[in-house]
Amino acid sequence: MPIIKRIDHVAMVVEDIEGALAFWRDALGLSLELLQEVPREKSAIAFLPVSGVEIELVQPTSADSGIAKYLEKRGPGMHHICLEVDDISAMLAQLKEKDVQLIHEEPVIGDGGRKYAFIHPKAAFGVLMELYELP
Ligand code: ZN
Repeated sequence: MPIIKRIDHVAMVVEDIEGALAFWRDALGLSLELLQEVPREKSAIAFLPVSGVEIELVQPTSADSGIAKYLEKRGPGMHHICLEVDDISAMLAQLKEKDVQLIHEEPVIGDGGRKYAFIHPKAAFGVLMELYELP
């Protein structure tokens, strides 16, 4: 059986990353580990670690991106929670077997060889869930 190892990150959608950093970095005092544009995803992201778990801020950089549409529809706020699993393919197979609705039926290969997939929020009682398998 595949095993959930830990929470990897919690992601928030924001309209303006710099504005959001005034809260997360400057007011709360979290350290900013990474701030970069991701042209492939038409977004900018910031990572602020909290003892092994990352707070991720995502800002759309183009009006036609999925994340921009999400922001327009729902406004800023919580976007998804990401769980690290030891074997993402086995976990996706297990979820399919249990008729859990998935956004990605197969793992997607991301930066640095990490594998990820999203579970549909309908299946997780309104929460968009991401799975990670780190290389
Ligand atoms: Zn994520």
